[in-house]
Amino acid sequence: MNCDSCKSSDCTASVRKENETESEFQDRCRLQSKLCRIRHKIIVLSGKGGVGKSTVAVNLAAALVLEGKKVGLLDADIHGPSVPTMLGLEHQQVLQTDDELLPVDTDGLKVMSLGFLLQSQNDAVIWRGPMKATVLKQFLQDVQWGDLDYLIIDSPPGTGDEPLSICQMTGPGTYAVIVTTPQKVAAVDVRKSITFCGQLHIPILGIVENMSGFACPKCGEVTHILPAGISMEMAEEMRVRFLGAIPIDPKIALACDNGQAFIRHFASTGTAMIMRDIVQPILELDADRINEIVN
Ligand code: ADP
Repeated sequence: MNCDSCKSSDCTASVRKENETESEFQDRCRLQSKLCRIRHKIIVLSGKGGVGKSTVAVNLAAALVLEGKKVGLLDADIHGPSVPTMLGLEHQQVLQTDDELLPVDTDGLKVMSLGFLLQSQNDAVIWRGPMKATVLKQFLQDVQWGDLDYLIIDSPPGTGDEPLSICQMTGPGTYAVIVTTPQKVAAVDVRKSITFCGQLHIPILGIVENMSGFACPKCGEVTHILPAGISMEMAEEMRVRFLGAIPIDPKIALACDNGQAFIRHFASTGTAMIMRDIVQPILELDADRINEIVN
């Protein structure tokens, strides 16, 4: 059996590699047949945890759905799967066909997370590397994603084994968005994320600075608690596009805690407008404009 999802002669899954067993080849065909149906894979990375990576991933995905796109959201943060909580899906069960897991559908967004498969939210995942890589692979190859315009992948933080496994599995057609906060310590880690993408040949769509100042809940004015401009300067220096700065907005925290996508439920706020601007280059991600976007 080979991958029969397309007739492309240059598909890498059309021929078995020399040192590949039959079952490895079939596995690769299965993965490829899923990935072929996903036009753009966007991996959301961060140098460290707690900078708002999942918040950004959830809102990017929701914003793309609001733009009429077919979107999947894969919560690949195995040790801290927060997407179910952020979308109010904590008690959802994943349905199964003979050989596929069905993603949970919420407002037209297809979601998969390890959080759906754990017995309790208190369960800690204590797995070694190979086990984690296997689960991540299953999330790509055994989930019924169908035809998608975008698969947004909420990566584990850092540049370790798990982000590496995901990037290697998704392969060509994967782009990165890097989330950071306006602090020097965060910027140091972002440089590592940029190098990581460079080494894996993953084009970076840009950097999002989150928690950039505080948006007053009364008047919306943004006060810069930490020095402004750190991420923008670093982006310029590293020759990566700066996508925008999202302030600390109590409504974001509230939306996350209430299981609502902020951009959908607080669509008329200034912060939602900033998020919509950040999504623009992702929407423009079509073949003709790609070099313009990532260069
Ligand atoms: P990470 O994925 O990087 O670990 P999360 O996205 O889980 O971070 O965010 C951590 C917490 O910070 C969440 O409770 C989220 O609601 C909150 N948060 C993230 N960004 C903002 C923001 N801009 N304003 C207010 N709260 C935020």
